[in-house]
Amino acid sequence: MTYAFDPGERPSVPINGRTERFPVHRIYCVGQNYADHAREMGGNPDREAPFFFAKPADAVMPNGAAVPYPPATANLHHEIELVVAIGKGGRDIAPDAARECIFGYAVGNDLTRRDLQSAARGKGRPWDTAKGFDSSAPMTSIHPATDTGYLDHGAISMSVNGEARQRGDLADMIWSVPEIIAELSRLYTLKPGDLIFTGTPAGVGPLQRGDQVEGHVDGLEALSFSIAG
Ligand code: MN
Repeated sequence: MTYAFDPGERPSVPINGRTERFPVHRIYCVGQNYADHAREMGGNPDREAPFFFAKPADAVMPNGAAVPYPPATANLHHEIELVVAIGKGGRDIAPDAARECIFGYAVGNDLTRRDLQSAARGKGRPWDTAKGFDSSAPMTSIHPATDTGYLDHGAISMSVNGEARQRGDLADMIWSVPEIIAELSRLYTLKPGDLIFTGTPAGVGPLQRGDQVEGHVDGLEALSFSIAG
């Protein structure tokens, strides 16, 4: 095949303990998957199920990156999340079969232009510019599930400049990871290389230029990045 111009390399993420990298196909995200965060966003988790949106694959940023403060916002927010990496895809995957699809886990941050999201919500418009911007998905390397075991509980937390901001537990997800995989596979054909950002606990807030962000999920390496000027 001949391309009209160089298509560039496929986005990829390091795999912890291996030389091979994980090639990213798509990035799916779950909205309002922790009840306390759904409430802080004005939702009612007793009446509304979580939902999906997406980021482009090349939004990934490596651990330790200086993430540029994005244009067209004055309210950049952090959202610490468990990231699930898919190693085996399919359609209409049953929750019982979903664990086999998991390649591994990472710690990620679903960076959000909160002002654009609020405007879009008010007008019933899509969230793409609020969520899917350049460099909006800093994340750690992927830890193979063969090393970590299946993660269904454990602390998830993050701090900015050493000050605690978000804290929760993976057990508090409204849709568990197998349920997320099952739901997504009813809407899309999941493929090896897909990443799923599984939602954030309460405590989201703004980031400023120069901030140093640390994120933790029990059993995984820490996520660390700064916001560049
Ligand atoms: Mn999120």
